[in-house]
Amino acid sequence: MFQGLGDRLEVIFKSLKGKGRLTAEDVSQAMREVKMALLEADVNFKVVKEFVAQVKERAIGQDVLESLSPAQQVIKIVKEELTELLGGTQSKINIASKPPTIIMLVGLQGAGKTTTAGKLAKLLSKQGRRPLLVAADIYRPAAIKQLQVLGEQLKMPVFTLGQENPVKIAQAAVEDANSTGRDLVIIDTAGRLHINEELMDELANIKGTVKPHEILLVVDAMTGQEAVNVADSFNQKLGLDGIIMTKLDGDARGGAALSVRKVTGCPIKFAGMGEKLDALEPFHPDRMADRILGMGDMLTLIEKAQANFDAEQAAKLNQKIRKADFNLEDFLDQMQQVKKLGPLEQVLGMIPGMGKLTKQLKDQQIDEKELGQVEAIIHSMTPWERQHPERIDGSRKKRIARGSGNRVQDINQLLKQFEQTKKMMKQLSGLTKGGGKGGKGG
Ligand code: GDP
Repeated sequence: MFQGLGDRLEVIFKSLKGKGRLTAEDVSQAMREVKMALLEADVNFKVVKEFVAQVKERAIGQDVLESLSPAQQVIKIVKEELTELLGGTQSKINIASKPPTIIMLVGLQGAGKTTTAGKLAKLLSKQGRRPLLVAADIYRPAAIKQLQVLGEQLKMPVFTLGQENPVKIAQAAVEDANSTGRDLVIIDTAGRLHINEELMDELANIKGTVKPHEILLVVDAMTGQEAVNVADSFNQKLGLDGIIMTKLDGDARGGAALSVRKVTGCPIKFAGMGEKLDALEPFHPDRMADRILGMGDMLTLIEKAQANFDAEQAAKLNQKIRKADFNLEDFLDQMQQVKKLGPLEQVLGMIPGMGKLTKQLKDQQIDEKELGQVEAIIHSMTPWERQHPERIDGSRKKRIARGSGNRVQDINQLLKQFEQTKKMMKQLSGLTKGGGKGGKGG
């Protein structure tokens, strides 16, 4: 996500930091480069111009250049302005004072609308809502079936009346939610390949009839400025409450995400980060700006961990680490927990300073497949071996290698990796024992 842009900005700021004192010309030069980087990231031209002018004005004026760390100050200003560009503060969805809350998802075909309906239902059900999914996309073959399959996976009801009129479907669905005690209705409306009158009329009719609390446009970030144009048209014709930007996971440039708020005035409310059902995040402009600038996003990572980790298991693990009897079974447990947070690359990207490592990992192809290999190796060990990894001798290694379809080197490598992790955990637990900075040094 935003990899290309992030890399460019990093180079620009590195050269600024290398300068020590800064002149107005240094800032201007850096801003010319930032401008190029943003344009290459496919950010809207007008948005770029305003952004750069604003940063320049703030950076050259005031006492920035006279300060002790002028480069840091400039970067801070860029971060603040990026946050503004992305919407400033987080925009949440409107929850109806009298349930059910009705959310209408609109968008073009292929943007990810149906998938997002499922993801949104999952995310909001974790916050205590009881969603009803509504299949009102009656034109795309298989859209109804797709939503039903998602509903089955999520164990959530899906309302359908087959190919019936979408306005009637939406209306009947709201009645159904009322009578079955569902407090959230998510309507998956029909898309088209392009915006046309017929589509807009149908959506306007649904809007007029069920009066949704939220009309959210689902757009594909990978389509760049086209996504912004689509958002602009939908907003003018239908009035949008917000945007869900999908496929940000595959978007190295970020032009759509960085332009859409300024161009349309509509906030991005959620970001799609992958194909899986838990790959939808509430959109936090400040955290996104941090990620673009390679500063990580620990808050999102912690929230994900809290939502996904089993508290009891985490406490047990914590105990073990403190007592230093962390074994290979715990190692595997821990890895499986981390996997739940999302693809390794995304997880590491959220840790400050780990962006670089992510790239190295990619280069060395240490990825999901590798995690699968580690699992296979540990599964081929006996419980005794998992508890006493230091006592796994040559003949055991050979057997484990055969059993898991690996080479003895792979077993050695895993054992080494485990030892390093164990050592690191010991150090970490030493640091946290005393509670923060004042803790015992070990
Ligand atoms: P619809 O026509 O708008 O209903 O689109 P679908 O929900 O069928 O999605 C189209 C494709 O986009 C599917 O293959 C989805 O798995 C994929 N998709 C949706 N959201 C995301 C996302 O956030 N990231 C990625 N990588 N793929 C996504």
